[in-house]
Amino acid sequence: MPDEIAAIRTAILEDAPADVIGALPLPATFRAAVVRADEQEMFAGIPSEEKDPRKSTHIDEVPLPELAPDEAYVAVMASAINFNTVWTSIFEPLPTFQFLKRLGKESVWGARHDLPYHVMGSDAAGVVLRVGSAVRNWKPGDKVTVHCNYVDDQDPSAHDDSMMASNQRIWGFESNFGGLAEISVVKANQLMPKPAHLTWEESACNALCNSTSYRMIVSKNGSHMTQGQTVLIWGATGGIGAYAVQYVLNGGGTPVGVVSSPERASLLQELGCEHVIDRRAEGYKFWKDDNTQDPSEWRRFGKQIRELTGKDPDIVFEHPGRSTMGASVFVAKRGGMIITCAATSGFNIEYDNRYLWMNLKTLKGCHFANDREAWEANRLISEARIHPTLSMVFDLVHTADAAYEVHHNLGEGKYGVLCLAPEEGLGVTDPRTREAHIDAITLFRRYA
Ligand code: NAP
Repeated sequence: MPDEIAAIRTAILEDAPADVIGALPLPATFRAAVVRADEQEMFAGIPSEEKDPRKSTHIDEVPLPELAPDEAYVAVMASAINFNTVWTSIFEPLPTFQFLKRLGKESVWGARHDLPYHVMGSDAAGVVLRVGSAVRNWKPGDKVTVHCNYVDDQDPSAHDDSMMASNQRIWGFESNFGGLAEISVVKANQLMPKPAHLTWEESACNALCNSTSYRMIVSKNGSHMTQGQTVLIWGATGGIGAYAVQYVLNGGGTPVGVVSSPERASLLQELGCEHVIDRRAEGYKFWKDDNTQDPSEWRRFGKQIRELTGKDPDIVFEHPGRSTMGASVFVAKRGGMIITCAATSGFNIEYDNRYLWMNLKTLKGCHFANDREAWEANRLISEARIHPTLSMVFDLVHTADAAYEVHHNLGEGKYGVLCLAPEEGLGVTDPRTREAHIDAITLFRRYA
């Protein structure tokens, strides 16, 4: 570890004052989890399940890029694995180097991103080391989390709902210098206050999934759930699903959570979800073969939901994609909404459109969150109204092992990654709030 990185880590662990942190020398290089451009064809012709992040992910020493006026360097204490870490590391659906090239053409500062390596990661918690000359609201020493909405604030299309911006990107996926590193480069608008009652790794695991679920469930830009509505949630103990369950419960709705094991079913019940469907135990098979769906299985699924809740779901929280979309469109109530942000099992989806139009249902696309939504979602975490779903913690050098597990659906909730934090459990500055909510904060840890 270079001396500068060691000094940064020591200063943060000793809670050094802002002026000391701001005066620390910056390193010329730092360690980061990267994929390499010259390896982007390494999995060509291999089925998706066999593409192994452990072969493509490297922990490399990379140069510290120059800081743009609207950016900050963040010393990353912890980061997290997202499914986009998996996509990046298996070069699907596209190698991310294409995104970096496009960003590289946009501006002089954008050109820094077009490199033969891609520093991955779309979540982080840490401490601001330096800010660019145009940054007003943040200073060295600030403890922060980072959301991944990367927008150009000089683009007029970014000023109603910034997710509608024509060049909106996801930091660490469609930009370089992401969070799975010792130092990250972020735009100042991505910074949010770190929840004081959480550790570094608990703080780092929320922003991407929590904000996505907030927009999908709570925001008027998503399904805008109201009290008493029933929401079917696929993957209800997974990265986005477990936050969705919490939002439905907080908003006075009734979640129906789908999982695939008895352990996940009891975790879900402990999370407060009364209505649980174990899709594996029930043996649902929505596809007879690769090309033919089975509507009788949709009906069986819908019947089970009705038996559990007495009605059809007002909202379906959809992300598995090809394997479930036919069933999702079928089971939503007349006039209901299927809201989707992904297609993990395949993006060429099929559903019977008669059930959509004849029953006046809405199929709505949704993607991450604008700044305001991300801040609201972070506020709810900070006020301990929504809790982190951290289940496992890895060191930066084991990033690829963590991505492998997420790729193969082996764990629950979120996987944290320690970057500069030497161990788990550090960074809490509000022990009282923590103590009051400790069972909820550590629920997913206990099931890991
Ligand atoms: P995750 O932690 O891996 O959880 C996904 C869950 O989906 C799993 O726990 C699994 O639950 C369930 N699942 C997987 N395959 C399934 C299938 N074939 N049928 C039914 N259920 C299945 O992933 P995540 O972080 O929740 O992300 C889920 C998807 O959303 C990914 O594709 C990710 O890229 C995407 N995403 C998009 C955005 C956005 O802004 N657009 C943001 C976050 C995530 P069980 O096996 O227990 O049923």
